[in-house]
Amino acid sequence: MNTETQYHTDSQRVAVLGASGSIGSSALDVIAASEGRLTAQVLTVHTDVARLLELTHRFHPQTVIISGKSRDDVSLAGFPPGTEVLFGQEALEKVVQRDDIDIVLSAIVGSAGLRSTWSALAAGKTVALANKESLVMGGPLLMDLLNQYGGQLLPVDSEHSAIFQCLLAHQHNPTTTRLVDSGVARLILTASGGPFRTWSREALRGATVQDALAHPTWKMGKKVTIDSATMMNKALEIIEARWLFGIDPEKISVMIHPQSLIHSMVEFIDGAVMAQMSPPDMRLPIQFALERTQRFPAPTRKMDWTQNYTLDFIPPDPEQFPAIRLGLEVARVGGTAGTVINAANEVAVNAFLNERITFDQITTACQQVFENHHFEEKPTLTCLFELDAWARKETELWISR
Ligand code: MG
Repeated sequence: MNTETQYHTDSQRVAVLGASGSIGSSALDVIAASEGRLTAQVLTVHTDVARLLELTHRFHPQTVIISGKSRDDVSLAGFPPGTEVLFGQEALEKVVQRDDIDIVLSAIVGSAGLRSTWSALAAGKTVALANKESLVMGGPLLMDLLNQYGGQLLPVDSEHSAIFQCLLAHQHNPTTTRLVDSGVARLILTASGGPFRTWSREALRGATVQDALAHPTWKMGKKVTIDSATMMNKALEIIEARWLFGIDPEKISVMIHPQSLIHSMVEFIDGAVMAQMSPPDMRLPIQFALERTQRFPAPTRKMDWTQNYTLDFIPPDPEQFPAIRLGLEVARVGGTAGTVINAANEVAVNAFLNERITFDQITTACQQVFENHHFEEKPTLTCLFELDAWARKETELWISR
């Protein structure tokens, strides 16, 4: 194993994939505050050209990509003459392999993020991974790619970053997330519990879109906020952790922690528990990844040591949040299961937002489609995308029944 630290000395050239989203914006805050240690070499958006223009004038990237449009749809008039403007999904997959990219921030939302993450790892790049779907859909395949091409995967999801930070306090090896003789007994993912922490299963059936969108601690997009209300986000994070840290799902627990100050914990075999604590602010895990685990002052919110804090930890009720059990099951089964659950959930969440199904039916739909799918232990990337399409259709069918 390589025990050499890969701390950087030169400016790190970052490709920010998904620059107009909430993670992308936080990442650009971090880059702006880095005093030149980080530069935005590439910025990409799906369709938000206005935002891209604004960011281009502020960050002066070498290249920008509009992945959801073609050249004929966009006027290039506003872009500075020296900026290369590219279009389409293929441009994303090519740019992440370029020699002038040191680190790729994968912050594209949804299954579309997998292709570019894949492409970057196939070129042996370092990827700061905010796109959950990459590991949920393709976990076992991505871990094989890492072994084969010697890239690096650094978690940006706050829970996985917290676990990684706890492990590093013990392992002193920032080059891998994989647990090697580390004495780890258990990973404990914390969850805010969302807006429905105190609701009964019966009450949850009548929960409205508005109820579900009222998240207590984190400000996020609609899809992620609903995932947090169903706790499907925790299910996806269990799957993510299972691959990223190479741990048996039996050794993953979830605790509801309404204050969202502890972002996850590691229990070691001697009973010691390490936790990472900080006010909820995505800029911390983003900076930790982009700076390759080196610590620097950050533009983040800090704890206020003149005030009282109380930390609660409550085990989630499996009847109230059946998604957790489903997540553990999918993590145990592996193979194609993650792809199916992820696709089914995207469609079901949309149906709930359009008031076509009830809140509790989101998880039921996922469970049903998962149980009906043709399982494969060692899928190819093509197979995963075919299955992704199948699961979307199947969920639509379930919803319209
Ligand atoms: Mg998270």
